[in-house]
Amino acid sequence: MAGQPFDNRDGVIWMDGKFVPWSDAKIHVLTHGLHYGSCVFEGERAYDGVVFKLKEHTDRLIASARTLGFDLPFTADEINAAHYELLKRMNFTNAYVRPVAWRGSDEMGVGAQHNKIHVAIAAWEWPSYFDAEQRLKGIRLDISEWRRPDPHTIPCKAKAAGLYMICTLSKHAAEAKGYADALMFDYRGYVAEATGANIFFVKDGEIHTPDPDCFLNGITRQTVIELAKKRGLTVHERHIMPEEMSGFQECFLTGTAAEVTPVAEIGPYKFTPGAVTRQLLEDYTAAIHQARVAA
Ligand code: PMP
Repeated sequence: MAGQPFDNRDGVIWMDGKFVPWSDAKIHVLTHGLHYGSCVFEGERAYDGVVFKLKEHTDRLIASARTLGFDLPFTADEINAAHYELLKRMNFTNAYVRPVAWRGSDEMGVGAQHNKIHVAIAAWEWPSYFDAEQRLKGIRLDISEWRRPDPHTIPCKAKAAGLYMICTLSKHAAEAKGYADALMFDYRGYVAEATGANIFFVKDGEIHTPDPDCFLNGITRQTVIELAKKRGLTVHERHIMPEEMSGFQECFLTGTAAEVTPVAEIGPYKFTPGAVTRQLLEDYTAAIHQARVAA
């Protein structure tokens, strides 16, 4: 089932300012980021050699690290240049790119003020399939038992490793029941997001999406809201109660990996991917194309 393992591939990984052979990009088992979750990362996609929204992703990586109390030992420009050098050395045009930063091994305890901060960037091939017809059938989502936590309990705006613990649990539970992914509610019971993507609904031609007050305000989410507004569509960012889902006609997810993914089912709620989803899927594809042309 699994493909080529991620610790044994050909090519190079950028690690702490140097390119190292893929299989040598290792950390010690006593690494703070592994034990205590002091780790932040990004998920990006390169289309035809251009990393879509790279500036936004790098800025978020730096901001996520700051939220966890550390500064990256590289500037945004250095990180961005490393991306393109990596894609060149890997000879990739369509790829997923994964920058990651973590506290190292100098101190091993909850407190780790003096640990070296490490940064790595890896990329792997990920062709993009813009087969709208196939996508418009929509995926099926489970409803997770896990809830997005109260912002006072975790740094919910950081793209930090620790926040994904409940995402993996939710996704595994969903997959065990035959679903593609899961929708999570938040600590108040409002609709929040999927395990790695934001969620949108359509009702009578208007868009409704949860207010990202306790989860990631995705870069794709912001792009899609902008595209919707350009189309003259009304976008309501607000708290959404689960029962409201019975009155929504369309539903889709947004994320760097998910792009615009139509949803057909969430637990007992059914949706029919329609005109608004199709339009935004096409507009998102066009925005990626424009970014490539402009680069
Ligand atoms: N929520 C979560 C939990 C995610 O992991 C992601 C993917 N990074 C998103 C939302 C969507 O964010 P983006 O559009 O920036 O990829």
